[in-house]
Amino acid sequence: MAAGSAIQIPTRLPLLLTHESVLLPGSTMRTSVDSPRNMQLVRSRLLKGTSLRSTIIGVIPNTSDPTSDCDDLPNLHRIGTAALAVQVVGSNWPKPHYTLLVTGLCRFQILQLLKEKPYPVAEVQQLDRLEQFTNGHKSEEELGELSEQFYKYAVQLVEMLDMSVPAVAKLRRLLDNLPREALPDILTSIIRTTNQEKLQILDAVRLEERFKMTIPLLVRQIEGLKLLQKTRKSKQDDDKRVVAIRPNRRITHGSITEDEEEEEDHDDVVMLEKKIRTSSMPEQALKVCLKEIKRLKKMPQSMPECALTRNYLELMVELPWNKSTKDRLDIRAARIVLDNDHYAMEKLKKRVLEYLAVRQLKNNLKGPILCFVGPPGVGKTSVGRSIAKTLGREFHRIALGGVCDQSNIRGHRRTYVGSMPGRIINGLKTVGVNNPVFLLDEVDKLAKGLQGDPAAALLEVLDPEQNHSFTDHYLNVAFDLSQVLFIATANTTATIPPALLDRMEVIQVPGYTQEEKIEIAHRHLIPKQLELHGLTPQQIQIPQVTTWGIITRYTREAGVRALDRKLGAICRAVAVKVAEGQHKEAKPDRADVGEGEDCKEHITEDAKPESISDTADLSLPPEMPILIDFHALKDILGPPMYDMEVSERLNQPGVAIGLAWTPLGGEIMFVEASRMDGEGQLTLTGQLGDVMKESAHLAISWLRSNAKRYQLTNASGSFDLLDNTDIHLHFPAGAVTKDGPSAGVTIVTCLASLFSGRLVCSDVAMTGEITLRGLVLPVGGIKDKVLAAHRAGLKRIIIPQRNEKDLEEIAAPVRQELTFVPAACLDEVLNAAFDGGFAVRASLEHFNSKL
Ligand code: ADP
Repeated sequence: MAAGSAIQIPTRLPLLLTHESVLLPGSTMRTSVDSPRNMQLVRSRLLKGTSLRSTIIGVIPNTSDPTSDCDDLPNLHRIGTAALAVQVVGSNWPKPHYTLLVTGLCRFQILQLLKEKPYPVAEVQQLDRLEQFTNGHKSEEELGELSEQFYKYAVQLVEMLDMSVPAVAKLRRLLDNLPREALPDILTSIIRTTNQEKLQILDAVRLEERFKMTIPLLVRQIEGLKLLQKTRKSKQDDDKRVVAIRPNRRITHGSITEDEEEEEDHDDVVMLEKKIRTSSMPEQALKVCLKEIKRLKKMPQSMPECALTRNYLELMVELPWNKSTKDRLDIRAARIVLDNDHYAMEKLKKRVLEYLAVRQLKNNLKGPILCFVGPPGVGKTSVGRSIAKTLGREFHRIALGGVCDQSNIRGHRRTYVGSMPGRIINGLKTVGVNNPVFLLDEVDKLAKGLQGDPAAALLEVLDPEQNHSFTDHYLNVAFDLSQVLFIATANTTATIPPALLDRMEVIQVPGYTQEEKIEIAHRHLIPKQLELHGLTPQQIQIPQVTTWGIITRYTREAGVRALDRKLGAICRAVAVKVAEGQHKEAKPDRADVGEGEDCKEHITEDAKPESISDTADLSLPPEMPILIDFHALKDILGPPMYDMEVSERLNQPGVAIGLAWTPLGGEIMFVEASRMDGEGQLTLTGQLGDVMKESAHLAISWLRSNAKRYQLTNASGSFDLLDNTDIHLHFPAGAVTKDGPSAGVTIVTCLASLFSGRLVCSDVAMTGEITLRGLVLPVGGIKDKVLAAHRAGLKRIIIPQRNEKDLEEIAAPVRQELTFVPAACLDEVLNAAFDGGFAVRASLEHFNSKL
């Protein structure tokens, strides 16, 4: 509405009835239209009209339009605002309605209502004379001071607002440009006023009156703003105080402000560069680092790559490129350390000493990587630690169990988010020297995942020809690993990839005999556990018979880990007793009663005199040490977990004991067979692998073909063993998967017992692979199997003849307690397995194995 256009509103105006808001001339308002009369007005006047005049409507405030069309028109407010409908928006949701954008033009007064339906139309009289806006000066003179006063307040108010907001700046300009008469209406609609106040302003037709009414509103707003600014200011003051404290802190602690931070960062970079230049990294690495630092300097601090590059450079500086410990290589001292730390394991210690001796003679040894293979808890890891100790080197263990990603070994490329160096480089950073002893634990448990084969990455690490330039993906420069002494451990060689196995020298670490375990317990485990629990030998005594009891009745393992745990449990229980005793002694009234009573309590509970088998123990003072006997064992560890069940289970035909090898050591294995009427079917249970199933079929075939020779018949007396007969073979411990060829002889013996009705000797165990012709072939793991049989209290072991040489590795005391029966063919096996031999009708054919 340009000044001077002097719009004259039509004398007849359609009326829009509003209830909630008041439109003042010169301001704009958005209003929702949903009553029938208003909707009609929008539809038939605004949407259909084509001229500018048709968009001018009268807005009557404070009049609620009835929701129903047929209701009478309410009393209309007499004064309204003629308005220009600028925009109409229609919507059907949640119910049909329009939203109108209207701009107020001038006041009018209803003279006469011309029609009510479909929407009200009235004859109106324009109250504000639009022409007077064009001649501001004249009206200013008329109103004089009032208008001047209003103007000042208005300016004051606007200047209190934030002038940087464009709308405020525009308003400030409008104050000067608009005619003063228009200002009261405009400012009233801007400042915070109620509808009632707006209505009063609308009703104030005389300009003078309007000024008078709006000035208090302006003042009120100004006061409100002042108050607001005051509270804001005090808050800002607080903030400023905080900021004022910070600079002080900056002096003591370093930067806080952005500039300072940047400066500090820059200092960091300079420091880093200095460190890089003074570090002893090889030329190639130095070149890469300097290039990176150049990039870092140019990078804005906020860039994520900046932190990545910095981390990389810090790692490069930290890596022990040239830092190493000096080897203390004295082979005699090494022998003493190894002997002191570990009992038995002679072969392993011998090989380790050889290895160290060669290192002593030839410093830069590109020797093989030692790999200790054996059941858990036999001391593989702890020998590794001892080697580091003898050499005076740092020790670092890298657990490889379950690693299935080659980046675990060789790192991620730096392009990945969250990239890291691999375990080798991380280990070097941890130990801080380039010649530690790295123990690669559980190499047999490397898995092959989607992200490449970790074993392949290890190949490069372990190859003495290549590892002087091992390149981690993260570092992207070669690191010399040739000074690192790698030792690997595994439970079995079967799952180590052949290429990796080829790079290592395998040293078998067998399980321990019971005697060895007793020695290990008394020399190493018990003192260690006592120290761990804060006990002294004066407080607890574990006689050897008790240790033997723990080994045979509470553990069945090749190593000593479970034994160690049980000893720990005993120490804990005793620690409670000792602590309780001390507590009681500390009480003065109890002390008078007599110390002996407390101590008697220990003896009666833990070591009843009749159960103390060691006579030496009886001579000990009654209170201490607390003696651990079988009763105490039962109290602490519960009832025994393993029985000497062997003889019990062999008291009927169709049972034989085999020997099996598992990664956890050797085990004895019962094989049970039963027969019943049927159609000649063989049922196998106990989670058998394919090889084992084949062995069972082989055994049956051999027995069927030799039934006549041995006079073996089925229930109906036929030599065809499967005629009308079903056989069921079961391998107990059904939850454990079993496979391997070495159960062949056991199955044959078990079936021979079933069909002959004779009992297999209860003290005999056997192992060996069979052929269809009845030959017994050699098998692996003899040493572990023999130890298992010995643990189980068996006396005779049938082994394949060609395994006889393996017996040499078995400790003499064990060998002396066992009888070995080497067998070349199944006849010999059966003869040894049954008391008085297994009768053969025809003369024995002699087999000569050519395998
Ligand atoms: P592995 O690595 O073979 O699974 P560890 O090296 O962890 O077994 O040995 C388990 C525990 O048994 C360690 O506390 C170790 O000191 C102890 N141990 C094993 N063998 C011997 C031994 N021959 N002499 C002394 N302690 C032993």
